[in-house]
Amino acid sequence: MLQDLLMITHTEEQITARVRELAAEINRDYEGKNPLFIGVLKGAYIFMAELCKNVTIPCEMAFISASSYKGTQTSGTVSANTDKLPDLTGRHVVLVEDILDTGLTLSHICKVLSSCGTASLEICSLMDKPSRRKTELTGKYVGFEIPDAFIVGYGLDYNEKYRNLPCVGILKPEIYEK
Ligand code: 5GP
Repeated sequence: MLQDLLMITHTEEQITARVRELAAEINRDYEGKNPLFIGVLKGAYIFMAELCKNVTIPCEMAFISASSYKGTQTSGTVSANTDKLPDLTGRHVVLVEDILDTGLTLSHICKVLSSCGTASLEICSLMDKPSRRKTELTGKYVGFEIPDAFIVGYGLDYNEKYRNLPCVGILKPEIYEK
C-alpha cells in the first residue's frame, strides 16, 4: 500500500505527538464538563480512538455516519445518520472528524446537532484544508493544516482502501486516474 503513495506527509510519530497535544488542550478546556465526543464515521475512527485514549477527564463517546465523497470528489450532497445518538440536551459536544475540506459535511451535521439543544458544540479535526472551504466553518482543535491534495491513511480512504495505513500521505494520481 505504501507504494501507492506519492509521498508520506505525516508519519505515525508526528500524528501521535500532535493528537496528544490536542487531547491535552481538550483536557484543560472540558474539565468538569463531561464532554460527549461524536466521531464522524468512518474516516475519524482511528483519530477518535487515539484522541480519547489521551483524554484523561470523564467523557462519553458516540458515532455518527455521514458521507459526501465518491472516489476523490465530493458529491455535494450530505447525509447524516443521527438515529443512534444519545440525548444531546445540555451536552458539551466535540465533533471529531478526519478532515475539514469544503466544510459542507460538518456544517450540515452541526446544524442537525445544535438543533438538539447542545450546551456547546466544537469541532476537532485531524486535518484541515482551509483553501477548499465553502462555508464559514472553523475547527477549534485542528491537528494539521494541509494544502489542497487528496490524502489517505490513518482512517482516510480512497474507495474504502488505505484506512489502515498508520501514516498519512498523498495518493499517486495514477491510482485514481486508472
Ligand atoms: P467536506 O464536506 O468538508 O468537503 O468533506 C469532508 C469529508 O470528505 C471528510 O470527512 C472525508 O471523508 C472526505 N475528504 C475530504 N478531503 C479528503 C482527502 O483529502 N482524502 C480523503 N481520503 N477524504 C477526504
